[in-house]
Amino acid sequence: MERTALLRRLTWQTGTVIATTFETPRVRTITFAVPDWHGHRAGQHLDVRLTAPDGYQTQRSYSIASGPEDDHLSITVERLDDGEVSSYLVDELRAGDELEFRGPIGGHFVWENATGGPLFLVAGGSGLVPLRSMLRHHRATSSQVPVRVLCSARSLELLIYRQELMELAASPLVDVSITLTREAPEDWAGYRGRIDSMLLSEAGWPISAEPLTYVCGPTAFVETAAAGLVSMGHDPGRIRTERFGGTGM
Ligand SMILES: Cc1cc2nc3c(=O)[nH]c(=O)nc-3n(C[C@H](O)[C@H](O)[C@H](O)COP(=O)(O)OP(=O)(O)OC[C@H]3O[C@@H](n4cnc5c(N)ncnc54)[C@H](O)[C@@H]3O)c2cc1C
Repeated sequence: MERTALLRRLTWQTGTVIATTFETPRVRTITFAVPDWHGHRAGQHLDVRLTAPDGYQTQRSYSIASGPEDDHLSITVERLDDGEVSSYLVDELRAGDELEFRGPIGGHFVWENATGGPLFLVAGGSGLVPLRSMLRHHRATSSQVPVRVLCSARSLELLIYRQELMELAASPLVDVSITLTREAPEDWAGYRGRIDSMLLSEAGWPISAEPLTYVCGPTAFVETAAAGLVSMGHDPGRIRTERFGGTGM
């Protein structure tokens, strides 16, 4: 990596919050203006650092939710009830506040048009965040790569980016499947229940298509989905994973 680019990634910089939007009652998208941002690749993340008045500092990683072609940088954060950083970002941060971060970080969980496909994007809960950046990149570059998306959420109300997913699904190249694990509307026509091999094979690609798969979400979700795909015969070398931590959904 070029030395200047590496130094830029490792250097903390300050962004100003310009907008916040609740995706669900506990998930918020935060958009920043960053004076010296040199772009990112879809799927990368950044580190956010908080400093308390007494000097105590802590940092966490957040996937970049915006597409590389978007005007501003954004992250989407899910509040964990006892979460030190996420509860501040979701409940306290306001437009005009400053936030320290560094990045972009990551070179493996990245998709660019030239990477090809067909693509299978599998998300558990807020694991949809980096995949949304990939989908935005796909749309912005008028990519011809066919994409299948499988999202798992506890309920329809808790599915993030719901409207955007519906809009993306209007493209003949993008197929979106949703599974609801806890509650579903009576007339729900999508899937119900946790992701398993049957669901992965119905919503994904046949092995013969040699899909490139990205799985993201809580650790247990990612491990289950990736193990399911491998046991079905998919090439492990074409399955990329990003674990957010935690044990499940
Ligand atoms: C590469 C990467 C990208 C990430 N991207 C995102 C993102 O886009 N959006 C997002 O909301 N989070 C993302 N995360 C998770 C994020 O970094 C934090 O772990 C999360 O916000 C919790 O931090 P906290 O300080 O609020 O909780 P903590 O105070 O650190 O932990 C509180 C409790 O929650 C548990 N816990 C920690 N992390 C999780 C988790 N992810 N799920 C369930 N339980 C957990 C801990 O074990 C602890 O019991 C990402 C993590 C990684 C490694």
